[in-house]
Amino acid sequence: MLEQLGISEDTLNFIKQEEESLKDVYKEIDDNCELNTMKVLAGFQKYEVSEGVFNSTTGYGYNDYGRDTIEKVFAYVLDAEDAIVRSQFISGTHALTVALFAFLRPNDKMLSISGLPYDTLHEVIGIRPNNSSLASYGVTYDQIDLVDNDFDYEKIKDYLKNNKVKLIEIQRSKGYSTRKSITLDKIERVVKAIREVDQEVIIMVDNCYCEFVETQTPLTVGADVIVGSLIKNLGGGIAPNGAYIAGRKDLIDLAGERLTCPGEGRDVGPTLGINKSILQGLFFAPSVVRSALKTAVLTAKSLEDMGYDVEPKYNVKRADIVENITFNDADKLIKYIQGIQAGSPIDSNAAPIPTDMPGYKDPIIMASGSFTQGSSIEFSCDGPIRPPYVAYQQGGLTYEYGRLGVAKAIENLKRG
Ligand SMILES: *Cc1c(COP(=O)(O)O)cnc(C)c1O
Repeated sequence: MLEQLGISEDTLNFIKQEEESLKDVYKEIDDNCELNTMKVLAGFQKYEVSEGVFNSTTGYGYNDYGRDTIEKVFAYVLDAEDAIVRSQFISGTHALTVALFAFLRPNDKMLSISGLPYDTLHEVIGIRPNNSSLASYGVTYDQIDLVDNDFDYEKIKDYLKNNKVKLIEIQRSKGYSTRKSITLDKIERVVKAIREVDQEVIIMVDNCYCEFVETQTPLTVGADVIVGSLIKNLGGGIAPNGAYIAGRKDLIDLAGERLTCPGEGRDVGPTLGINKSILQGLFFAPSVVRSALKTAVLTAKSLEDMGYDVEPKYNVKRADIVENITFNDADKLIKYIQGIQAGSPIDSNAAPIPTDMPGYKDPIIMASGSFTQGSSIEFSCDGPIRPPYVAYQQGGLTYEYGRLGVAKAIENLKRG
């Protein structure tokens, strides 16, 4: 079998040896999964999910009882007052865009306090010019960078004392940067700091890749609204597309008015037969996130022992499911990512090459041999072709497939 998979016995033995030293870390991941599983099950039971919820609507999607139930269950699981969960959100970026355009008005100011936001938001905000950006509507933007991977607490407070800010954006996952992702204890500290000087500013958190990595959410520690994608953690690899916005009810209503139209808001939106997939995805999500976390931990330990810089290290507290490997070499980055593709269930015969992607500045190489296009809760790896040539790896629907994927990528790297 190993020969068929193109993995040497040496490589598999190396992986097995590494796993021996990871038992304690895996135990913590199991415990976290157990708690999140309880939370999901409690949500299903509290809102009495029944077969009727799987029914479908078409057209306007009036009176979609299933859709409304899904949104209650998601709100419960995310510690939110309310949530909007829709397949009409094309992606996480689209949900973030809807939220920003819903909450901000001309002459309002948006402030990012986690440095430069995710690449695809640059044209949305107007950091890179676009005729339909927030900037084109007169929304101004400012940014405070992280310092040593933490918020610049004093600068943030000073800024808020001297400027009227409508919305603060915090991005937890690192995107294509080399900073660390942001854990909930830091979110809690910065929310407290913000509230010392400003009780009104909307605190919005880009929660992509972070769901179920911990048992709480940014809303539990005082954020107003969070946003994430269903082809990442919460979709459990089952949701065919979509995204969510969760948090304060007044904000969720505003997001609904912007996603559809003022006046119709959240009362429309056909579910077209996907309710069961969304709920089944949520049901699997704690376990899928566990697989993704273990795959990330195994990658961290293995690649570090092979002499590469990895972030996070295998034994630190994680904020998200992303693992960085710094190759300092374009060719090694490409080899590793091609190995991930070759180890995938779908399109294993395709060799990804760097290419320009809509919304991104540098050429990107992406391995995604996934059932759902672009799904990055499935084992996937990508990276911009720019120094220091960092791979961003994430996902793994099951740990067993994840570890074989890592083995295959290591094999490809070793063969050069
Ligand atoms: C994935 C991601 C997004 C949204 O990406 P989509 O591909 O549009 O779903 C936004 N922010 C961060 C930090 C992400 O990781």
